[in-house]
Amino acid sequence: MEEIKQKLEELEKNNLERQIYDFDSPQDTTVTYKGKSYLLFASNNYLGLANDSKLKQKMQEGIEKYGVGSGGSRLTTGSQSIFTQLEEKLAKWKGQEASLLYATGYMANVGVISALADGDWTIFSDALNHASIIDGCRLSKAKTMIYKHCDLEDLENQLKVCETPYKLVVSDGVFSMDGDLLPLKDWLKVCKKYKAITMVDDAHATGVLGEQGIGTPEYFGVSEGIDLHIGTASKALGCEGGFVVGSKEMIRYLKNKSRAFIFSTAMSPAMAYTIYSAIDEVILRKEARNHLREMSGQVRKALKQMGYEVLEGETPIIPILTYTAKAALHLRDDLMANGIIVSAIRPPSVPEGTSRLRLTLTSHHTKAQIQKLLAVMEAYKINENSSDTFL
Ligand SMILES: *Cc1c(COP(=O)(O)O)cnc(C)c1O
Repeated sequence: MEEIKQKLEELEKNNLERQIYDFDSPQDTTVTYKGKSYLLFASNNYLGLANDSKLKQKMQEGIEKYGVGSGGSRLTTGSQSIFTQLEEKLAKWKGQEASLLYATGYMANVGVISALADGDWTIFSDALNHASIIDGCRLSKAKTMIYKHCDLEDLENQLKVCETPYKLVVSDGVFSMDGDLLPLKDWLKVCKKYKAITMVDDAHATGVLGEQGIGTPEYFGVSEGIDLHIGTASKALGCEGGFVVGSKEMIRYLKNKSRAFIFSTAMSPAMAYTIYSAIDEVILRKEARNHLREMSGQVRKALKQMGYEVLEGETPIIPILTYTAKAALHLRDDLMANGIIVSAIRPPSVPEGTSRLRLTLTSHHTKAQIQKLLAVMEAYKINENSSDTFL
């Protein structure tokens, strides 16, 4: 079709065409791609659990117990007691009354927001929220207001003049592309002042932040105020699946109204069984979390000293701004040629003119692996500075 062809040509011309890398090895700090071994610095597998031997054993046990597929939606014939046990465990871990599982974190955001916010609601959404939050807002019947990234004054000004009876304020806890944190305490204060329902998406914080890996509330010492707390099993937990925790009433409502929950097959029960154990593993790995934070700080500092524009943050997400998509691809390709995989992030994942390389560390990366990364990054920078023809 002519229109599609044109659009594809435009993507290619603007350095925005996406590419899938098929690995032929498990998700780990090194991966095999097209027969070659690469260091991977782009994974969400923050604690190395995706290829953990204990959890692999659990998955096998789960398959023996339950088979491979769930066979239906939770509300028809696809439920198993392991799902409810996992929901109870998630709620307890996150310090809330109840929880609900979704097939993915994406579906949790879309399913929760669209079920809750109808025409009587206004949604207030941070400008840098994850795409799944944006899609949830689009699917809801509510009016959506975008406030400037982490700008509480802007948020308050919008809340002040809101005339709908109900308000929902939604934010990433850790922003997935910038790696910075929601100022949770002050944000909650503003939201509560205007009696808004609050929703925090801790996809990247779950397992990574706080003593027990609970996420941003634990990190900031906040024990109440988040009405809907989203998480994913696909990042630090090393598995897959999404969830929301909240009050019993809220979860009961979602079971009845959330279409992404109702009209989709339940996750594999073997996966739920594995997530159940992954939570215990995550809670135990306090040292890994500390190590990850320390390493992230060291890498940020080293890259800044080399002259890179690194965004500030306290998470293992380390964005290196290149501004143009072309420069991001150039750096990515150079790293790849040196045996390192890092993602080039371009619009629409980030705003126009803010393309970047997005490095992520995991607690399993060794000192030698990090030294290799830094050596290649340094050589690139020296090359760039000494070359007039660069780009
Ligand atoms: C990854 C991510 C999601 C989606 O979770 P999946 O389980 O991968 O579908 C949602 N929100 C944020 C902030 C994320 O980073």
